[in-house]
Amino acid sequence: MTSIGVFALQGDVREHLQALERLGVEAFTVRRPAELERCDGLIVPGGESTTMYKLARTFDLLEPLRRRVKDGMPTFGTCAGMIMLADRIRDGAPGQETVGGLDVTVRRNAFGRQVDSFEVDLEMAGVDRTVHAVFIRAPWVEEVGPGVEVLAEVPSGEAAGRIVAVRQGPLMATSFHPEVGDDDRVHGLFVDLVKQS
Ligand code: GLN
Repeated sequence: MTSIGVFALQGDVREHLQALERLGVEAFTVRRPAELERCDGLIVPGGESTTMYKLARTFDLLEPLRRRVKDGMPTFGTCAGMIMLADRIRDGAPGQETVGGLDVTVRRNAFGRQVDSFEVDLEMAGVDRTVHAVFIRAPWVEEVGPGVEVLAEVPSGEAAGRIVAVRQGPLMATSFHPEVGDDDRVHGLFVDLVKQS
């Protein structure tokens, strides 16, 4: 059976576990290096990327995570998790590092104070019909390297055209929170990626 962990030092873990279970994979929390080793794939959830980074370091998970991502473990970062996977951050906290692996530059808290949180229906490559995307103090992707496929952009409004979902080989990231609501199609895309690897 496919085993997918949810990085659980901080952030919205439970909804991801539930989505994975609905999709029929074994889902469990990852707080220790030994749990990380059991993963066929990993979700890094939304939360607060600075706190997540500091806790990963404190709990000796940062280097093991960097190693597994580098070795090709399928990993899906949502919101703060997208920041954790990015090679470069703008507007990061002083000293903030990431796990890296995704050849993108993300801007943290990019949508600004006026539109801290918002929802929009968008088209996403690989998912039929629109996805209802929920953004909460979200990052966006400002630059992508040559190996990165853009999966979704904001369709309208002030942030129209901003990149909010990407994929690079076994790595996937969304600015929005696919675990909110009961639509499991975006998680399904990741589960397929894990099963293909
Ligand atoms: N603003 C948060 C950060 O910088 C991300 C918010 C979220 O994950 N919902 O990490």
